[in-house]
Amino acid sequence: MSHGYRILVVEDNELNLKLVRDVLTYAGYDVIEARTGEQGVALATERLPDLVLMDLQLPGIDGAEALRQMRSSPSTQTVPVVAVTAYAMKEDRERAFSCGFDGYLEKPISARELPAQVHRFLKGDSDG
Ligand code: MN
Repeated sequence: MSHGYRILVVEDNELNLKLVRDVLTYAGYDVIEARTGEQGVALATERLPDLVLMDLQLPGIDGAEALRQMRSSPSTQTVPVVAVTAYAMKEDRERAFSCGFDGYLEKPISARELPAQVHRFLKGDSDG
């Protein structure tokens, strides 16, 4: 059962990608995926997702640069982008917001909590 929300997951780690894809697909989201920042920006432009979950550490351009490119393009400027990071430090959370991310999701991702977190991000709550 799909409720029509398309989520772009930008993640280079196959296990994390599989977890997020499986959980969100099961929860009824339409999941599209990219493994590099460049692919992520291209796919965001092409498919205009309702939300992007952006890993920060990626091969090639990192998540912050991918966000910058999305924000500088009229077609993807307003797409909400949530930073996904292994960093648990308060400073890293603040850095994510200062880069202009709309929210912050901490690894490890909780399969149990993720659908509700994504639902809250879609509603515009920055804490997931
Ligand atoms: Mn990574």
